[in-house]
Amino acid sequence: MINSIKPDLLSTLNANKATDVINTCVHCGFCLATCPTYLLLGNELDSPRGRIYLIKSALEGNYSSKDTLNHLDKCLTCRSCETTCPSGVGYAELLDVGREFLEQKRPLWQKAFRYGVRKLLTNPVLFNPVGFLSRHSKVNNPLLTPNKNAEKVLLLGGCVQPVLAPNINQSIKNILVKIGFEAIETPQSECCGAVDHHLSATKESMAKVKKNIDRWLSINTDVIISSASGCGLMVKDYPSLFDKSDPYYRKAQQVSNKTKDIVEFLSDKDLTQLNLEKADIVYHDPCTLQHGQKLGGAVESILKKLGYMPSAVQDSHLCCGSAGTYSIFQPKLSKQLKTNKLNNLMASSPQIIVTANIGCLMHLQKDSKIPVKHWVELLDN
Ligand code: SF4
Ligand code: SF4
Repeated sequence: MINSIKPDLLSTLNANKATDVINTCVHCGFCLATCPTYLLLGNELDSPRGRIYLIKSALEGNYSSKDTLNHLDKCLTCRSCETTCPSGVGYAELLDVGREFLEQKRPLWQKAFRYGVRKLLTNPVLFNPVGFLSRHSKVNNPLLTPNKNAEKVLLLGGCVQPVLAPNINQSIKNILVKIGFEAIETPQSECCGAVDHHLSATKESMAKVKKNIDRWLSINTDVIISSASGCGLMVKDYPSLFDKSDPYYRKAQQVSNKTKDIVEFLSDKDLTQLNLEKADIVYHDPCTLQHGQKLGGAVESILKKLGYMPSAVQDSHLCCGSAGTYSIFQPKLSKQLKTNKLNNLMASSPQIIVTANIGCLMHLQKDSKIPVKHWVELLDN
């Protein structure tokens, strides 16, 4: 129970969120066994239960900003703890509140570093030249022309994905054409706001979120498709960023309800006419898909229906260490998690690793001896 949040310390929305989450945790500790940072470091303060305690103490005014920030920064926001928690604790919401609260106490050099990374990733003018030089792949196939009467769907193009791996969106557009749809792709400038949000740049993030909501609702489509599970999760979570009395809350709900990961959209479609790439594959399920969007197993299921036999992966619930900008700010832990993940993925000697999020794809590819692709690329051969 939070006893003494000072009214001027947090917004009402954040105070309510924090109180709800903290009061739901019964301290059972089940989440410790599936928390990647607790498993690596063995320190209670690097576990979900420990971080809940640290945030509670901070909001009550009892904290050392350096130590608390250190333990919160090590959290991957992978939400594995939420999948495990029997009490339904919404840990990520509390983490956002705690991080936003403590951001002001961060040393200046850290603030400057985080600002630089945010700007680099979210400003196309800065990112495109750098992204082009570290590009993962080019487009493989020409773009197909949709039928005149094809139903239109909005495709979230993403801010980094079109530069780093343009073949992903190209494959999706071609798949959609083959099954009778036309994709309207959002421009690179319409970033979902996740990078700013996770680095506690709330003002910038909310400006992007509101702009996106207005623009996407002005386009007359029933479905918004996301192919990067990190962006999809952010967009599905838009309503949680607003107080229920805010006019944007209802609009955010509309956007969220329309948003589907590409696997959800394709799962009930006839895919028999697609040309599949033949290969022995293994699948890495991004945390944002399995723990965030609660779509664990959905990609494996569709791949099996298509005739693939993705091998089972040990510890498939654990993060690969990519986690948005985590690999930049926590390189040591990130590398350890990647090494463990690649060892588990390579156990079946696959030819290709497939995944569902551009961050995981780029992160794993850096140290993988075999190609890493988005799973949709297998379907546009
Ligand atoms: S977050 Fe959930 S699993 Fe973890 S200690 Fe609290 S109630 Fe238990
Ligand atoms: S989000 Fe992931 S790293 Fe953070 S406490 Fe939960 S399980 Fe651990």
